[in-house]
Formats: sequence, structure tokens, C-alpha cells
Amino acid sequence: MNENGMLYEGKAKKVYRTEDPDVLRIAYKDDATAFDGKKKGSIANKGIVNNRMSNHIFRLLEARGIPTHYIKEISDRETLVKRVEIVPVEVIVRNIAAGSFSRRYGVEEGRELPVTVLEYSYKSDELGDPLINDCHIQALELATAEEMDTIAKLALRINEELLKIFSDAGLILVDFKLEFGRYKGSIILADEISPDTCRLWDSQTRKKLDKDRFRRDLGDVEEAYQEVYRRLGI
Ligand code: UDP
Repeated sequence: MNENGMLYEGKAKKVYRTEDPDVLRIAYKDDATAFDGKKKGSIANKGIVNNRMSNHIFRLLEARGIPTHYIKEISDRETLVKRVEIVPVEVIVRNIAAGSFSRRYGVEEGRELPVTVLEYSYKSDELGDPLINDCHIQALELATAEEMDTIAKLALRINEELLKIFSDAGLILVDFKLEFGRYKGSIILADEISPDTCRLWDSQTRKKLDKDRFRRDLGDVEEAYQEVYRRLGI
């Protein structure tokens, strides 16, 4: 930890301790990375959009009975959250084929999936976040079977809520990534939900309004983030 209380600097956020050992302060940056950090850049005002959008969604999820780490937004870019122990498993939820799913299985991007697909990857930058299954998670002792049961159920409930929230905003939720944490003996939703972590397409035109504009150099990246923010009526 350095003198200003910073515990950790990630790719998109800085994390600070507070006077309360159970509370952390998150500060969102405009820095953008893709392909395991190999592509680097910056998206103007992304930190503000991601902070305010994620908080808005977390508040809606809390109101619908989903436990999250959200406590309080303290500025455009900063939020107080519960200090959790992050479960080192990234949970991907897919409604429509895209990205690595399309590449891995040779399915054209945009194909509606007949079931919701849950995927897990081991949260490890060194290893490049490899795909893992329930047995691997148990074998590597990343989470217990009971924890994974809770995580899977929460992820599917969150998907149902997000599909409604985004559809009301004229957006198709293609896929997204979640992270969960352990807090006082239970599993709660942590990290963020933003155009960095979701694929969102315009319902009418199917224009991409998310980080794929940055990953694939499609232009209008900042405008896409602003458009999602505006449509959610935050
Ligand atoms: N995702 C993420 N962080 C990651 C990997 C994926 O937020 O480290 C999100 C990504 O934005 C997309 C979904 O999870 O909404 C599925 O990503 P995919 O596995 O298709 O990976 P990609 O195409 O980004 O390699």
C-alpha cells in the first residue's frame, strides 16, 4: 500500500482503503485495454460513464433482491464499496454468439443462442484468463461447489434483470462478464457492469455500443459509451 491509501491499481480502476476496514473507495479511470493488456488506449470520460452506469445498475439489482458490493457514489468517478475477497473466477453470461464464443466454436456472430450460456474463466492475467469448468474450479480450490451453485443462480437472475433494463433502453444484451466476492460469509456481486464488460447492440440497427468499438477500431468509441449512458436515463 502507498501513502495515499491506494491498495491496488488495475487496468480501469484504482482501489483505495478507507477508515472503515470493511469499505473500499474505487476510482474509475479513462484507460482502456484489450487483448490481455496488449492493446492500450484511453476513452474520454469512460471512467464517469462506467462509474455512474455501474452504480445505477447495481442499485436496480439491489432493489430486485440481488446482493452487491455497492454502498454509495461519492463523485462522478468514485464509489464506496464493501471490501470483498474476490472469487478468482470470471463469469461470462451469453445470450447471443459473439467474441471468443464465435471464434472458438465457429458460430457466426449474432446467432441467438437457444439457451443462456454460462462460462467460467480463471482470473489470472499471467495465464490469460483460461476457460475452466466446475471440476477445474473445485480442483484448483478457487471456490466451493456451494459457492459456485450460488454464483450460477445469481448470474442467471442478473441476466434476466439486465435483459429487461437494457431492452427498455433500446439495447440488446449480447453477453457480459461478472465477478463475485465473499463478504461476511455470503457471496455478493462485485466489480462493475458497464460497456467495458457487456456487449450491447442497438435494438434496431444492431450497431455495437460497447468496448468492441475500441477492440476492433470501429471509431466513435466515446460516443457509444455516452449513448448507452444517455439511453439508460441515468
Ligand atoms: N469480458 C470482460 N473481461 C474479460 C473478458 C471478457 O469484461 O476479461 C466481457 C466482454 O466484454 C464480453 C463478454 O465478457 O462482453 C464475453 O467476452 P468474450 O469471452 O467473447 O471475450 P473477447 O471476445 O472479449 O475476447
